Amino acid sequence: MAKCTDCDGTRVFGGGDGVCSECHGTGGTGNPLDALADAINILSDESTKCHKCNGSRKCTTCNGTGET
Ligand SMILES: [Zn+2]
Ligand SMILES: [Zn+2]
Repeated sequence: MAKCTDCDGTRVFGGGDGVCSECHGTGGTGNPLDALADAINILSDESTKCHKCNGSRKCTTCNGTGET
């Protein structure tokens, strides 16, 4: 097992934290307008999800474990 190099925390702290580096654990796109749209369309499946983790908030490389 090695520390995942694709986690959000890898770049900040030097160790895998299992957080998606694309959305930084938010599961969204990081766009405030998208977040607002999600709030309005709360019952819709058309919410704007992070394209990398698909809204799971986990690093897809290590599946949220922080290690590969
Ligand atoms: Zn990772
Ligand atoms: Zn993500």
